[in-house]
Amino acid sequence: MNILILGAGGREHALAWAVVQNPKCDRLIVAPGNAGIEAMAECASLDIEDGGEVIALVEAEAIDFVIVGPEAPLAKGVADRLRDAGVLVFGPSAAAAQLEASKAFTKEICDACGANTAAYGHFTDAASARAYVQKQGAPIVIKADGLAAGKGVIIAETVAEAEAAINDMFGGAFGGAGAEVVIEEFMEGEEASFFVLCDGTDVLPMGTAQDHKRVGEGDTGPNTGGMGAYSPAPVLTAQIAQTALDQIIKPCMDEMAKRGMPYQGVLYAGLMIKDGVPRLVEYNVRFGDPECQVLMMRLGAQAMDLMHAAAQGRLADARVNWADDHAITVVMAAKGYPDAYEKGTVIGGLDALPEDSSNMVFHAGTRREGGDVVAVGGRVLNVTARGASLAEARDRAYAMVDAVDWDGGFCRRDIGWRALD
Ligand code: ATP
Repeated sequence: MNILILGAGGREHALAWAVVQNPKCDRLIVAPGNAGIEAMAECASLDIEDGGEVIALVEAEAIDFVIVGPEAPLAKGVADRLRDAGVLVFGPSAAAAQLEASKAFTKEICDACGANTAAYGHFTDAASARAYVQKQGAPIVIKADGLAAGKGVIIAETVAEAEAAINDMFGGAFGGAGAEVVIEEFMEGEEASFFVLCDGTDVLPMGTAQDHKRVGEGDTGPNTGGMGAYSPAPVLTAQIAQTALDQIIKPCMDEMAKRGMPYQGVLYAGLMIKDGVPRLVEYNVRFGDPECQVLMMRLGAQAMDLMHAAAQGRLADARVNWADDHAITVVMAAKGYPDAYEKGTVIGGLDALPEDSSNMVFHAGTRREGGDVVAVGGRVLNVTARGASLAEARDRAYAMVDAVDWDGGFCRRDIGWRALD
């Protein structure tokens, strides 16, 4: 099979790593890719949010199967364009991608099928939103409806803070994403991510993970795209996962099918777990980044068969072969991230690191310049390892981190602390 992966981050490097190990993959192209991906696949430069450009590449290179990494092309309907052109694609339609692109849409789906999630109100003007907050009290969560790159959520400790957030959002602080606002009950508990594959009818669990959103050790400081992750997530026990499937995910998938927008692809459910009860925080319509890196490290080549089965509507017969293992990924970021950071610093020591089924450095913001690998993004490397225990995986990952020669970078030294404590 000739396969095309769309995307350029650590997530897509991990997907590429799993796909090239599968004997069914004859040729892999990643668009646009990065310096790490270049070493294992062909890279093609194109605008992945432009369906026409993607179809042109698919036709020119006789691609049999397309895997869409990030949410933006999905929300823009690139998967629809491909499907309409008869191309097999892993990723939901634009209609189904509203599960990530619109928080109000997701809340309405949950309401319709009785999925357990925070109580909420949906507002299109600031005065009614403020009135709702005054009635509900604090703490309370204020969210811009649309895609805001993880920045459109304010957890307000006081009513005054909530009102300020409402005024900011309706004042245009998040552009179009904040034209509508969802206000939610604050849920207490521990968060974990549950990944399932969906083919429009059937649902197959693909693994659990927890990530570290804050930049600082002990989960302090500003939010980031994610500073590390590990899988499995011990808080998401088999029983809680089953409850989440039966009472949240499957009812939502049935509701989507009923509305004529069956969901196909990976569904990432962010769950809040308290006293053994999972509640939905959010859906994402793609793999998490960096959670994908630990899932791929655990699944290896079978990940491609599973994604292919989802795209072909064959999940009823698909199985995941789980090993009793753990994986962890440590994000190395450019100093200064998530604020302003320097670009163009040279990263050394990568060639001497092991690259095998238990150790990989997945690249995110890197580029090859001459013989050097240079940092060109905020999150730059995902140092990923697998072990019989989480502690073993962590020790391996940090041994690799220590062998990377990069003065311009930093990482958190406590990834996995919650599960290791
Ligand atoms: P991201 O894509 O970065 O996860 P997002 O913009 O899609 O963010 P959410 O996932 O809905 O937004 O919220 C971001 C974070 O805010 C959650 O991961 C969670 O920690 C917190 N959060 C959101 N909603 C609630 C809630 N109702 N109660 C408690 N915490 C919440």
